[in-house]
Parts: sequence; C-alpha cells; structure tokens
Amino acid sequence: MSSTLTSTFRKQTRGPVDLVVKNAKLLLESGIAWGGIGVIDGIIAVIAGDEHLPEAGTVINAEGKILMPGLIDAHAHIHDPTMLEHETFTTGSKSAVAGGVTTFVDMPLTNQVDTIKAVEEKIAQGEEMSVTDFTFYAGMMNSENHVAIPMLVDKGIAAFKAFTCEPYQTNNGVIVKCLSAISEVGGHLTVHSEDQGILDEFLFEMDDDWDAPISHSLSRPNIAEQLAIRQNIEIASQTGGHLHIAHVTTREGVQEVERGKLRGVMVSTEVCPHHLMFYRDDMNRLGPKSKMNPPLRAREDRAALWSALLRGAIDTVVSDHAPCPIEMKESGAEDIREAWSGVDGIQMILRVLLSEGINKARMTYSRLLRICSRNPARIFGLYPKKGVLRIGADADFVIIDPNKEEKITADIMETKCGWTLYEGMMMKGVPVMTFIRGAQAFNEGSVTLKPGYGKFQAMGSGNRPIGD
Ligand SMILES: [Zn+2]
Repeated sequence: MSSTLTSTFRKQTRGPVDLVVKNAKLLLESGIAWGGIGVIDGIIAVIAGDEHLPEAGTVINAEGKILMPGLIDAHAHIHDPTMLEHETFTTGSKSAVAGGVTTFVDMPLTNQVDTIKAVEEKIAQGEEMSVTDFTFYAGMMNSENHVAIPMLVDKGIAAFKAFTCEPYQTNNGVIVKCLSAISEVGGHLTVHSEDQGILDEFLFEMDDDWDAPISHSLSRPNIAEQLAIRQNIEIASQTGGHLHIAHVTTREGVQEVERGKLRGVMVSTEVCPHHLMFYRDDMNRLGPKSKMNPPLRAREDRAALWSALLRGAIDTVVSDHAPCPIEMKESGAEDIREAWSGVDGIQMILRVLLSEGINKARMTYSRLLRICSRNPARIFGLYPKKGVLRIGADADFVIIDPNKEEKITADIMETKCGWTLYEGMMMKGVPVMTFIRGAQAFNEGSVTLKPGYGKFQAMGSGNRPIGD
C-alpha cells in the first residue's frame, strides 16, 4: 500500500523544529508514504509530505532511503556484571545502534535479577554506560522468587525468564505460579523451551562424535522443543497468563505456537537471525562459533521459520546476542561440548532481514516494521512511545539504504568479542544512520553518541496485545 501524505497528517507547529529528515520512504503503521518527519525535544512533532515540513536547525535529505522506527531487540544478553569480558552496556549498545536497534531488552546470563535492589543496580549501570535506551528481564524464575512478580511489575520490570532445561531448569509448578501471577498483574513469562529428559537421553547416545560440531545440533532433537512448548502452552491456556516462547527453532515448535494462537491462548514467540540465516549442515564448516542453544536446525526447519514469520505466526525477531571471548569458542575445536553456547546478533537482525527478506522478495516492508519494531513494543509494554513513527512518539528511527552492499567482517562489528558468525558474507541493505530521541547515535559506520545517553524504559503492565 502506498500514499502521499497530505497536510492532514501533520501537527501544526509554530516556527522551526530541531531536526527534519525529508525525501524518505516512511514505514508508517498505515503503510508506506513518501515525505519526512520533524523532531522537537526528542519527540516526533511532524510527519508530512516534503512540501509541508517546517524549517529546522538540521535537515537530512534521505533520498532513496527508508526511514523506519528503531528496532527493539527484545532478547539480548548485554550486561552481566559477572561476565563483562563477554559484553557490556557500552559495547553492546554501540553494536545495537550500528544495527539500527534503538532499545534492547537485556536478558540475564548468570547473575540473578529478581529483587528491587538488583533492578535498581541494573538501571544505574545502564544509565551510566549505555548509548541506547534499554529495559530488561527479571529472572531466572524459580520456586523462591516467583512471589516477587507483582513488586517487580510495579517497578516497570514486566518480563520474566524461565527455563525448562539446564542450566536454569525450573519445574512446571513454577511456570504455573508465574503465569498465574502474570494473569493478575500483567507482563509476560518467556520460557526457553526444551525438554531436559530428551536432551539428557540424546546426549548420552552421542558418545564418540563430539569432534564434529553438528553433533551439538543432533543431540538436541526437535521433539525436545516441541514437547516443552506444548506443555507451556497448556499451562498458559489454563492460567490465562501471557506466555512468550523464547527463540523458536523447529517446524514442530512453530506448529505448537500457531495452534495455541488459533485456540485463543495468550502466546507469542520470537526467532533469531542465525536460525533464519544458517542451518545444521553449516556447522562443520563454521566450527564452534556456530554453537548456540537451541542449535541450528535442518533446512526444513529454517523454511518453516521463514514461512511462519511472513504470515505473522512468529511475532518478532530477536538477536539472542550472547557472544564470548574467542578462546571460549576455540576451546571446542576438538570437542564441541567444550565451546561456549552463544553468538553475536544485535548488529545483524536488520541486515539479515533486509538481505534475505526484503531484497530476496520474501518479505514486505510492512512485515519488517511489525516484526522489528511495532510487535516487540506492544508485547513489552513500550508502545506507542517506542516502536512506531507517530506524532508524540520518541524520535527513535533508523535510515536504511536498501541497495547498498556490504561485506560483513569483524571490523564493522562494535561488539566486544571481536568476531562474527557472519564473517565474509556479502549482504544487501544497510542501516546508515540511527537516531535515539532525536539525537544521532550512528552515522555511516561510526557511533556518534556517548555512553550514558541511554535511559531505562519502564514496561507498562496490563494485558499486552499479541499479534498484528
Ligand atoms: Zn538468550
């Protein structure tokens, strides 16, 4: 759908504004339009055709480019105070803006975030060190801390993480209690869903083949994900709490989520760029860098993920960004069990979707807007302040050159780890400028905002809308 904006779209403003971006293709909720935006005090004040844009202190001509709301990466392991050699609020947020991400939702790695004190400490660390706006998960949920859910929701932390498998395995009772509490106070529970019994049994069977990285994938069969998702959806169905399935990877897992949605269960889900880009047979070529959980899957699974993403059965794309020092990958060269599980990703979400989705004519811009910005803003209680180009919203946006080609190398990565799973790949479609609350954070390869600009974003509580 396309239209030319008329003056009815613009709010009357007196005098010049701080910033105007003109001559762009705008991704609005109502469709694609040509024109620009005007920003006052970090807020979008005008959306109009070029002829109606006001005077501004700074004017950017975005000819030939796309202007869309900044991405919200709703699952990224950015800052764990006990694992700062992996990533920090500063390095992770620089990588974020270089990927068009303007807000991320940090997920704990090992350090528990389940008390008011831990929340206050994390807000203070982020506001001192982050370039981008941020919010974060509480977790990992267990049989002691689920009682803290109402108190944490009051503090603006309304997303909770639990595992059905190691290393933070909890039991169904905890999931029942968390989702019951959430049905009362709002928010959602995100569950890493793989059945530990199946993982144990198949790990035992794999004995001798650990020098081949693909063994990591083969030891975690699809049915482990399917069964765990099915159980969690049944719990969501009976409690009425909003369940979010972390990083779905299998055809069967997608089917379970879609069945749940069709019968009215409050369930949403996410997919990672690496599961859209690579598949299991790439693992022996890529080596231990390609180890993550859940693992890379078969070709049919990757096809099912794309298909589900395009029809709205998967709600958002998240990085599950969890890089590590390279030695923690190299240690798995002879035995994949020894390697760290996790890869870079926050700088790659938009690149993968532009290169593999938009530029291969699989995906529309309307879908891109929904899965990158609007849906995560809605699911995480940040909408409509974030995730949409709308008068009154924060001026968080990214300008994309859809035709620019780029070779991905560690040199363009802002992440602390100094390597990327995507090394050497040619991609088409590049985020060239990123703005957060009207301030330019990234310009053609350079991060231009200082750490400490980023602000904590409290999540709204109450029921979140799911789906399109
Ligand atoms: Zn994760």
